[in-house]
Amino acid sequence: MILASNNAHKVTEVQAILADLGEEIIPQREAGCDFEVEETGTTFEENAYLKAIAVTRATGQPAIADDSGLEVDALGGEPGVYSARYTGNHEDTDEDRNNYLLKKLGDTPMEQRTARFVSCICLTFPNGDVLRARGTMEGKILFAARGKNGFGYDPLFQTDGYDRSNGELTPEEKNAISHRGKALRQIRKELEKYYADK
Ligand code: IMP
Repeated sequence: MILASNNAHKVTEVQAILADLGEEIIPQREAGCDFEVEETGTTFEENAYLKAIAVTRATGQPAIADDSGLEVDALGGEPGVYSARYTGNHEDTDEDRNNYLLKKLGDTPMEQRTARFVSCICLTFPNGDVLRARGTMEGKILFAARGKNGFGYDPLFQTDGYDRSNGELTPEEKNAISHRGKALRQIRKELEKYYADK
């Protein structure tokens, strides 16, 4: 199965979470898909479909895509589908985006810094069949970055029930509770059912 992503961190997480699936997960570049799909959708679901179907059309193979992001309640759900390009500058780093988010939240008190990560997974097949799954992870935006693990907004995000940021969790701890972990475990069930029904 081809993974429709050029994000090395995501590729590592998806491969780890689906390690026991019994199918090799090949990043799109290794399958000859050296392109970036424009994320023109207004929802995570739409963008996940756009990424997966582009790879299925290019290769004639099943493809799996994750579209994900952070929704911050005090910012009306921002950055949402714009999480990867929140500052408006593609050259910016995760650190730049984290600083931008901190600035936007200013001194908003902790109880109003509620947020969630969302992951929408889409699996497309050459015959037109589509499987979908969604996972969320609830938490709060900290006042300063903590930890070097994970990627993106992980150093600023503390999951409910934890006293460490996602950036301070081990990959195994994060994958066990993350939005992406939940969505991928759900899609795995859907996939098993799909093959069993065939
Ligand atoms: P996508 O490639 O359009 O799905 O971009 C998702 C963006 O959301 C990433 O570039 C990160 O900024 C953010 N994001 C998604 N999942 C995570 C996560 O697990 N940890 C931290 N940031 C994430």
